[in-house]
Amino acid sequence: MSENCLFCKIAAGQIPSKKVYEDEDFLAFHDINPAAPIHILVIPKKHVVSMQDVSDQDSEWLGKMMALAPSLAAKAGCRPGPEGGFRIVINNGLDGGQEINHLHMHILGGERPWQQRA
Ligand code: 5GP
Ligand code: ZN
Repeated sequence: MSENCLFCKIAAGQIPSKKVYEDEDFLAFHDINPAAPIHILVIPKKHVVSMQDVSDQDSEWLGKMMALAPSLAAKAGCRPGPEGGFRIVINNGLDGGQEINHLHMHILGGERPWQQRA
């Protein structure tokens, strides 16, 4: 856990969130300011700042995090199949639009045309 990290505090339950999934390594919760009809954030419980800090050794847990997306999206109401779907976004660093410096995966979905304002 990193001091003064909002998402570490959420992972530790010190700050409340609308949790949708939790296991030993990950937590998923609703974004407080959704940019789409469905907007879920998935975080590793361990503090990793961004994709700029990962290497080959992280591929296993990163793969697991990505693989959570379809079931979380479906559970949150994203429609399945080619007519439905969702977007996965990971912002990295200031130039990458990252505001919270604890790696997180956005799952964005819901009926079109929300993408025009995302
Ligand atoms: P970033 O721009 O870093 O990729 O995304 C950070 C996201 O975290 C934003 O979409 C923002 O709305 C969300 N966020 C910021 N503070 C909180 C919070 O306290 N709780 C939750 N659930 N989401 C937050
Ligand atoms: Zn953190």
